[in-house]
Amino acid sequence: MDTIITRFPPSPTGYLHVGGARTALFNWLYARHTGGKFVLRIEDTDVQRSTQASADAIFEALEWLGIDWDDGPYFQSRRFPVYEEYIQKIIDSGNAYYCSCSAEKLEAMRAEAAAAGRNPKYDGTCRDKGLSKGENTVVRFKAPFMGTTVIEDVVKGSIVFQNSELDDFIIQRSDGLPIYNLAVVVDDITMGINTVIRGDDHVSNTPKQILLYKALGHPLPTFGHVPMVLGNDRTRLSKRHGATSVTAYRDMGYLPEAMINYLVRLGWSYGDQEFFTREELIEKFSLENIGKSAGVFDMEKLQALNGDHIKAAPPAKLVSSLIPFLKAEGYDIRDTAYIEAVIKTLNIRSKTLKEMAADARFYFEDTVVYEEEAAKKFLKAASLDPLKALIKELESLGEFSEKALEDAFKKVMEQTNLKLGKIAQPVRVALTGKTASPGIFEIIEIIGRERVLSRIRKAMEFIERRKENA
Ligand code: GLU
Repeated sequence: MDTIITRFPPSPTGYLHVGGARTALFNWLYARHTGGKFVLRIEDTDVQRSTQASADAIFEALEWLGIDWDDGPYFQSRRFPVYEEYIQKIIDSGNAYYCSCSAEKLEAMRAEAAAAGRNPKYDGTCRDKGLSKGENTVVRFKAPFMGTTVIEDVVKGSIVFQNSELDDFIIQRSDGLPIYNLAVVVDDITMGINTVIRGDDHVSNTPKQILLYKALGHPLPTFGHVPMVLGNDRTRLSKRHGATSVTAYRDMGYLPEAMINYLVRLGWSYGDQEFFTREELIEKFSLENIGKSAGVFDMEKLQALNGDHIKAAPPAKLVSSLIPFLKAEGYDIRDTAYIEAVIKTLNIRSKTLKEMAADARFYFEDTVVYEEEAAKKFLKAASLDPLKALIKELESLGEFSEKALEDAFKKVMEQTNLKLGKIAQPVRVALTGKTASPGIFEIIEIIGRERVLSRIRKAMEFIERRKENA
């Protein structure tokens, strides 16, 4: 089999949308799965709407997702001579012609068709005139009047178009700019693309593209049109449904592994499996398992999957991704070993890195803010004795290992005749301000002796103050 060559050709008119990212992923995974190539092309012929900033934002999002390309990025705006050459080939082979019909004439044609209830179509006035290139001439493709054009779509099956629905569409404007479908086909041919997976909003372009391939005597690529991504109300996903920019998810604390897992699953399946590593996706991806029905973007599912990926990631690997979130919380960042230890205690509960950073407050900030309810329930007079006893034990403890801490707590239990919870909960509130947190021994070990003792003392002062004010 020939080497599979796929592509992702975004128009740089905004950020990378999750739907676009999914298309990119399908093409990238198919290339990686087959040992093929993945080409990146920027479709910026619409100079009014295209910007370098958008192209850069797209590169940044792809890089974050870990989608790398083997060829490109190409920019259509730098390839006009190539389009010119192919337009000339189509004219020379008798499959296209110059047309000099004025805007008024075309408008009259449209109005007449509309009045008669027909689709507006070019009537072929210049088709056989043999005109040469002139100041206001466009180039039109000679489309067949009869027969059918069929897309053999790997996702949707055969899609049949009646050629009578087409007209002699323009392939080059009077200012020399190529028309979109022409540029796409020339690019796909010259870049060796043999597999085109794209959104099904492009189905209507495909018959024109197929005719251009045929006119150029080039074999067709494999086409696969993927249903759009929908929002929870089953309309096309848009800003109304929440963030649609890929990098917005990065900034909300999602991992690229979770994002790609979720996006791929949104239109592709492998039995009931939901969780996939990047390597597994590459190993298992196939065009046959792309779904025919539209995927519905579900924030809660994405969040749950993100939690699973956070849990599965080696804590050391999360350190650098978590740091910006810790900084955003305003913490004084400590060394990476400390951050890694913190992650080990939080990774089973955090759904996003942002949530993890917020939950890590007590590890980084010495001023513990007690939650109202937590303080009411556990920072009361009855806790003073056990806290005092614990301070004594901790002060004389050699090392702060889990085992040593357990023994220290046991001793306090014996001395005070209290159950572990009666001691551990006030300590937990003293150290974290909350009633729920990672394991108490883990926390104590990470926070360290000085800070632990100081926080317990502060909690005792708090209890004393409350007593006085009561
Ligand atoms: N530039 C098109 C888009 O952004 C993609 C065209 C294609 O895949 O053929 O929707």
